[in-house]
Amino acid sequence: MENTEHDDLAFDTEVIHLSKDVDSSSMAIHMASTAAGFYTRGGNPTIRRLEEALARLDGGEVGVACACGMAAVTQTLLSLLAAGDRLVAHRCVYDWSDSFFREELPRFGVDVEQIDFRDLPGLESALSKKTKAVYFEPLSNPALDMIDVRRVAEMAHEHGAIVVVDNTFLSPYLLRPLAFGADIVIHSATKYLCGHGDSLGGVVIADAENAGRIRHGRHIYGGVISPFNAFMILRGIQTLPIRMQRHCENAMKVAIFLSNHPNVTSVTYPGLSSHSGHALAESILSHGFGGMVGFQIAGGHEGAARFRERLRLCKPWVSLGDTGSLAYVRWEEERKGVGIGYVRFSVGLEDADDIIADLDQALS
Ligand code: PLP
Repeated sequence: MENTEHDDLAFDTEVIHLSKDVDSSSMAIHMASTAAGFYTRGGNPTIRRLEEALARLDGGEVGVACACGMAAVTQTLLSLLAAGDRLVAHRCVYDWSDSFFREELPRFGVDVEQIDFRDLPGLESALSKKTKAVYFEPLSNPALDMIDVRRVAEMAHEHGAIVVVDNTFLSPYLLRPLAFGADIVIHSATKYLCGHGDSLGGVVIADAENAGRIRHGRHIYGGVISPFNAFMILRGIQTLPIRMQRHCENAMKVAIFLSNHPNVTSVTYPGLSSHSGHALAESILSHGFGGMVGFQIAGGHEGAARFRERLRLCKPWVSLGDTGSLAYVRWEEERKGVGIGYVRFSVGLEDADDIIADLDQALS
């Protein structure tokens, strides 16, 4: 890109300079249905800048920015798969991606199998039936399973399958899956990339050929990001490295605190040596283990409901990757390897002692 002529800039430097116009301290918002020769459903200068910046940060060729993370997931798979194709996905993925796999894709004649990608021999036998694509989240939502991107990509490629990875929980600051063999990376930009809980967005990063198909699919399905949200995410990514550092530091403190709490029966955090994917996380993640902590509250449904009601500082809401801490409490049903009383905790940027004090009073 014109405003980063040097190939050797650090991530923290690039993220700032990729996000602005060459001659301005910010990026202009082109709020136009047609701008600089583009109809905005196909992209416009603000959207293009976001796409170029995110492709560069992930080390990929082309970015396609979408209305939200689910628009990125659905438009990618609808653009790549056809009736008769087979998709093999990890058993634990984001709820609405899961619904798309179980409810929608089969209606279009796509055969979907969901298995545990941590079981590599099991994955091998699933792949032996001709598979068009594999799909997983390297750190899964909500169970926080760590998946070996390199091994899964090698196995998938041996069977001629495309590897699609949703890297929302980690962001390109902690993991760049393309460097480990993935073909396509998706982010819900609503989360860490935006970082402030004030805009929806999604992005797909791929090689020119696949990105061309997905961009064409976005033209048809229409799930393009608004120029305003593209601007908000360009603004957000400038602080991604420093926010992620603080998310990681706070999450480690929270995970250690929870591990010693009598009303918590288990803690899942890739930074703890008790996590089954700890060694893998150490080998593939840069800068830290992420801002997401899972924990199981004692006392079943009642314990979970009480915890949820008592939270004051931390909000019992969905979403993640915001400045404020968010505790999504699973208190109604068991699903995808997490039981009632499991909390998917997005550790925010507040002072860690304040987060811990709020958790402590809500757990007591
Ligand atoms: N992928 C993951 C892993 C998510 O956690 C989410 C949302 O929580 C999405 C995709 C969907 O993103 P959005 O809410 O921006 O559509």
